[in-house]
Amino acid sequence: MFDLTIAQARDALRARKLSAAELTEAYIGAVEALNPSLNAYITVTQDLARKQAAAADKALAAGQGGALTGIPLAIKDLFCTEGVRTTAASRILEPFIPPYESTVSGNLLRDGAIFLGKANMDEFAMGSSNITSAYGAVESPWKRADGGNAILVPGGSSGGSAAAVSARMALGATGTDTGGSIRQPASFCGIAGIKPTYGRCSRWGVVAFASSLDQAGPLARTVEDCAILLGSMAGFDPKDSTSADLAVPDFAAACQRGVKGLRIGVPREYTMDGMPREISTLWQQGLGWLRDAGAEIVDVSLPHTKYGLATYYIVAPAEASSNLARYDGVRFGARQDGEDLRDLYERTRAAGFGPEVRRRIMIGTYVLSAGYYDAYYLRAQKVRALILRDFTEVFGKVDALLTPTAPSAAFAQGENMDDPIKMYLNDVFTVPASMAGVPAMSIPAGLDAQGLPLGLQVIGKPFDEETVFAVSAAIERAAGFSALPTIRAGA
Ligand code: GLN
Repeated sequence: MFDLTIAQARDALRARKLSAAELTEAYIGAVEALNPSLNAYITVTQDLARKQAAAADKALAAGQGGALTGIPLAIKDLFCTEGVRTTAASRILEPFIPPYESTVSGNLLRDGAIFLGKANMDEFAMGSSNITSAYGAVESPWKRADGGNAILVPGGSSGGSAAAVSARMALGATGTDTGGSIRQPASFCGIAGIKPTYGRCSRWGVVAFASSLDQAGPLARTVEDCAILLGSMAGFDPKDSTSADLAVPDFAAACQRGVKGLRIGVPREYTMDGMPREISTLWQQGLGWLRDAGAEIVDVSLPHTKYGLATYYIVAPAEASSNLARYDGVRFGARQDGEDLRDLYERTRAAGFGPEVRRRIMIGTYVLSAGYYDAYYLRAQKVRALILRDFTEVFGKVDALLTPTAPSAAFAQGENMDDPIKMYLNDVFTVPASMAGVPAMSIPAGLDAQGLPLGLQVIGKPFDEETVFAVSAAIERAAGFSALPTIRAGA
């Protein structure tokens, strides 16, 4: 049961070869067995899952049911879920039980999905290693081949989602990606994940980090599974003013299109000094696979790539400092009493936010302050426009781009943690697509010398996820990635 993809499980459920109750029970068992060590879930909702499974079986028996009826998923704890605690992995939201359902998770429920629980993540989605969660770090189910047994990070911030899918504690998961938080953990955990175009999925009911960058998207074991999930998650939502009023294409069908005649760009700025040899080799191999499948490979340039990280770490903290102002101990979540109102605010925020969140609030407040606004925030916004212009120009010549997803394989807990800048470098290849708002997908494509997964990234034109899926599926077919993590259900 644990080897089934979402597509296979859906077909088995429809053919009544498998019941939603059986499938859900197996996954509940996997969560019970593995979560104490991996810590991929903050909150487990097995009672709710059992109820949803019973309803799914009823629907299936009546020949009804939607695209995901009976499919057990993990929901990142950034999505508000009605009646189910939603923490954003922060102490400040520890007691928060939303009275409403986010549009994206609501869309999944509409289509019959089953929710196993709320996936662990970096606090307020700030991080690349799932170390900053107030509910403890997530462990990657993968191990280095050196036998040293080092505990590896799953990536972040959707690290609980990625670890859960990889270790088969869920068939798929939701994630959010502000600067790489779907793609980098997918790469570290040997699974697929797509950040759709900004505006493709509604942000309504998703705890805000950086509103002009945040996008929801799926993580799953195959490209097709991601396509199925995104088809359900996406769609126009009048409750989000940045939601795109566009029809949702058949993403799963796009996976079968092939790449014959497509032009694939290779941005020269994505070659980085000190990048492991294995990653450049894999990148070349990926280009070879696409060429063999009938695509034309074209060298291109995105000259403002080198400013991506610096501008992201101005824009994202600026928006975060503003978004997080609402956590004041009065309206949401935890409260520490104080002498007066100001003291209550200060104590609540000091007790409620972890060190990385505080750092971002301070950076954000600084770059938005009267004396520095023009020098930092305004300037970063101008550079952001140039980053977008680079992509727009290149997409006049090519249909999609291929790059590595991350500059390294998963690192161990404790590594990269002495210096925040080193941690921020993880996002060097994922941030530009976020700044430009274009869709980008990570596909597991190979292993490093330690047997750890490495992902390749396909970047597409705005609202052309179909080509991203077509190219990603072609890479998936050629790569034949079949490695499994050491720790997994059914092993
Ligand atoms: N790692 C990046 C950050 O810490 C991206 C996080 C994200 O995409 N949510 O901001």
